[in-house]
Amino acid sequence: MTTPKGYMGKIMMVDLTTGAIETEKISPKVYQSFLSGMGLAAHILYHRIPAGADPLGQENILGFVSGLLTGTGSLFTGRWMVTGLSPLTGGWGEANCGGSFSPAIKRCGVDGIFFKGISEKPVYLCVDDQGARLETAEAVWGKDAVEAETALIEKHPNARVACIGQAGEKRSLISGVSTDKGRLAARSGLGAVMGSKNLKALVLAGKKRIRVHNREEMKRLSKICNKWVQFQPPFVPGWLTAPVGALMRILPFVATQDGLLYKIMLRKWGTVSMNQISVEMGDSPIKNWMGSSADWGFFKSFSSQPDRFTRQETEKFHCYSCPLGCGGICKTKGRFPETHKPEYETVLSFGGFIMNKDVDLIFYLNELLNRAGMDTISAGHAVAFAMECYEKGIITTGHTGGRALEWGDPDDIKFLVEAMVARDGIGDLLADGVKRAAESIGPEAEAIALHCAGQEPAMHDSRNDPGFALHYSVDPAPGRHTNGAGLYYEMYQLWKKVKGVPKMGPAYMKSSKYKKDIHHARVGKANSVYLNVMNGAGACLFGGFIGATRIRIFDWLNGATGWQFTPEDYMEIGANIQVLKQAFNIKQGLDPKTCRVPDRLLGRPVQTRGANKGRTVDVETMMKDYWELFGWDRETGRPTEETVNRIASIA
Ligand code: SF4
Repeated sequence: MTTPKGYMGKIMMVDLTTGAIETEKISPKVYQSFLSGMGLAAHILYHRIPAGADPLGQENILGFVSGLLTGTGSLFTGRWMVTGLSPLTGGWGEANCGGSFSPAIKRCGVDGIFFKGISEKPVYLCVDDQGARLETAEAVWGKDAVEAETALIEKHPNARVACIGQAGEKRSLISGVSTDKGRLAARSGLGAVMGSKNLKALVLAGKKRIRVHNREEMKRLSKICNKWVQFQPPFVPGWLTAPVGALMRILPFVATQDGLLYKIMLRKWGTVSMNQISVEMGDSPIKNWMGSSADWGFFKSFSSQPDRFTRQETEKFHCYSCPLGCGGICKTKGRFPETHKPEYETVLSFGGFIMNKDVDLIFYLNELLNRAGMDTISAGHAVAFAMECYEKGIITTGHTGGRALEWGDPDDIKFLVEAMVARDGIGDLLADGVKRAAESIGPEAEAIALHCAGQEPAMHDSRNDPGFALHYSVDPAPGRHTNGAGLYYEMYQLWKKVKGVPKMGPAYMKSSKYKKDIHHARVGKANSVYLNVMNGAGACLFGGFIGATRIRIFDWLNGATGWQFTPEDYMEIGANIQVLKQAFNIKQGLDPKTCRVPDRLLGRPVQTRGANKGRTVDVETMMKDYWELFGWDRETGRPTEETVNRIASIA
């Protein structure tokens, strides 16, 4: 076997029941077919998690994978991913995070670390000069994610840590895995899987070298990319972002977005740059998807205008190999001295989505939930769900321990979130997400519980961008804003690099987004397969938005590995990964049709005011078209047996 370049060519398999730790070689053919990262994980988990496995049981396998490009000299490629059978959806589970943990996996000499079985007592995995071993986690069990990481780094200086907080330990189904003191791989409920395995943390301090085929070429490509990142002309002040959004709402046409504009905003403010623009243009769901931009206009959303966040920022935060640095550390008032700068998703989830104007509260909840290791999108949904249930008399003071709930009331919000973290009273019900909460309250609550197969959708309105409706519904990990949207495709500018994908002109009419047209599904397919390539490479979505001719993922992959694949070859690999993930869900008994986004998110009933007034989305046709374009059954979303067997037989 030739020495692997770019990837490490091995995985580590840890059996928590027996304590056995083994390293396995993975054939180059697997990397050439699925890349590393999420693709490698799909290959491992599809074969090794048996049908009907209990997500919180012995048979589930939890994988931590690094990207193929991580550590190779490329930029924006320091993402790591946690994968497993999701206890929220019962299907493919994945969560993606930046920070500094991704290269630490590869420096242990492997592309992924997988855990099966259940440890009898709390443990953590330590990998360093002395090898890999399980150590007792009794001293850190019960600590929040920041406390646990601090304690583990004190004991193992120079290590990088991924760990769960109290939410994962208590098996909250909306819990994730934290690194870098509060950056969360939040979605799919995989923190609960880690907790169910009695695995508190991974502590990695390996020193293996990451080999690269052509380092000079990697540098050359990185220089091109960095040139675009450094292009940073002055931009409008934060309060002016709202009028820009309002203009986007009023105009009947849309200028096809060049992601360079979003890059400028990301570099200036981070994702909070969208706090007001998104509300005005109809991208932000308001009041549990019932409200609109008319209910959360300029003066209400002004409390979260972007400059408000940068004023509290004491330093920028860059993930590994990222020249942009959309993150930051912010000082806060009250219980916690600082927090990672809240993301747009968090600000909206605890802002307009629950009608809260108190931004200090958002900073507090951000840190509280990051430390607990709880997904802020799902937690915001749970609060909105409780408030709407209370408003409609579906839950009463009997459920809340005597407290009346009111939309936007800071004390009520704090009460509910703290109760969720503690799994106390109504918080215990909400800590497993809105689907489980509704199931236990009763049928009236189920119409208010807005989720896709158990996963609460993100803070991007599918009535404004029907591409979100499609990806919330068809992705094997449904309900996720990171999977794709019409807007993302515009920014990827894939047609400038890949043959056979839809081309976009400089502008289009907004009404075209709602017309029956196979174009939407073609864009959706291209989004899905390109994202699989990026997730195999360990690339950041925001890097991808700079555009495929500026962030040269395909060329970096060839430069790192020595392969000579065309962009179209890589897109074929991305399509193979999508088949494996879909087949994984079908193997676990998930019906793809049941993952469809709820009616309220589709404009059923139609909104009568605000940015999305009068809009409905025909997601069913888009779903069928999308499945058909992959060569799957148009009605059921199932790939043919021949397709699955062909891809699954690669070893
Ligand atoms: S753009 Fe932001 S999220 Fe992406 S790698 Fe850079 S710092 Fe991390």
